[in-house]
Amino acid sequence: MTADAILDSRTSALRAALAKSAADALLITQIDNVRWSTGFTGSSGACIVTQDKALFCTDSRYTEQAAVECGRHEVVKLKSSSPEELVGVVTGLGAKTIAFESAHLSHRIHGLYVEKLATNQTFVPTNRVVDDLRLVKDETEVAAISAACKVADRAYAHIVPYLGVGAVERDVMLELEWFIRKGCGAEVAFDTIVASGPRAALPHGRAAGRVMQPGDFVTLDFGARVGGYNSDITRTVVIGEATERHRKVYDAVHSAMMSAIEAMRPGTTGVAVDALAREKIHAAGFEEHCFEHGLGHSLGLAVHDGPGLAVKSDITLAPGMVITVEPGIYIPGWGGCRLEHDVLVTEGAPRILSSAPTELLEL
Ligand code: ZN
Ligand code: ZN
Repeated sequence: MTADAILDSRTSALRAALAKSAADALLITQIDNVRWSTGFTGSSGACIVTQDKALFCTDSRYTEQAAVECGRHEVVKLKSSSPEELVGVVTGLGAKTIAFESAHLSHRIHGLYVEKLATNQTFVPTNRVVDDLRLVKDETEVAAISAACKVADRAYAHIVPYLGVGAVERDVMLELEWFIRKGCGAEVAFDTIVASGPRAALPHGRAAGRVMQPGDFVTLDFGARVGGYNSDITRTVVIGEATERHRKVYDAVHSAMMSAIEAMRPGTTGVAVDALAREKIHAAGFEEHCFEHGLGHSLGLAVHDGPGLAVKSDITLAPGMVITVEPGIYIPGWGGCRLEHDVLVTEGAPRILSSAPTELLEL
């Protein structure tokens, strides 16, 4: 499919969603949703879809860019980025019922719309209309996420020689991020986590000044962004020689991850996959220290691109979904281990998009 055909099919999907609701117009303001709907890669703009119109509104900073990127939409040039002008465009379209993204519109801006509505117009909340459509990726999106995974794989290969006794978490983080940007021409998807020793028991331990010592588990959680799409992988290594305890913890996490991935077939729920990973960890004797976060999240234009695998999740897996699988064991005061793969759900066997090795490394 060409880029234009993809954008047209997304507009059709939005119109179908609109037809099912009682609304005549859908206002899209969340910037990743705007990008998905229009192709716009800038940071300020809004999209409005009705059954016969598809508008993209932005201010003078972005109109040239919009003319190149948003050819499938009528580009409305706003004089400024102040919300009042956009409110005027949206309410002036003549739509009687205007749906907005309730999770993404501030109370103040909501008030501006309500003030401006004509007496025969209503402004109605919607939830996850675009977000849910975004859960299933098309080929171009899968290709972009795969490219971002390749960068993460290269970055891991690059950083392993820097890990060892005496290495400083923060230096490792900087080298990794430098390599992603300078060495691979990509962006960093999110702040890199480098957590060593007892700090590895913190699921989201930011890189700090800690110096790595023999017997540390070191968790690295990082990702790259390519063409707007993200990767997000986690690897845990041991500094020096692994003990029996390291191996038991590592094997439990690894087997939880692999069994969960194997279960990721169309029709399976996010709740069931999450439960499977937890059972594996409990059965290995680590129930008390089993991860409390979700097993995984959707991945795409955003790192947390939507719901995924969790104790509470409303997702049923479908081909085209890309979801992380990231079980962990965290033992306060001692350390922790997490592994994370990025997985594409297909009609058949799930496809792991990240290929950085997951065998236990002793460094
Ligand atoms: Zn991660
Ligand atoms: Zn993640």
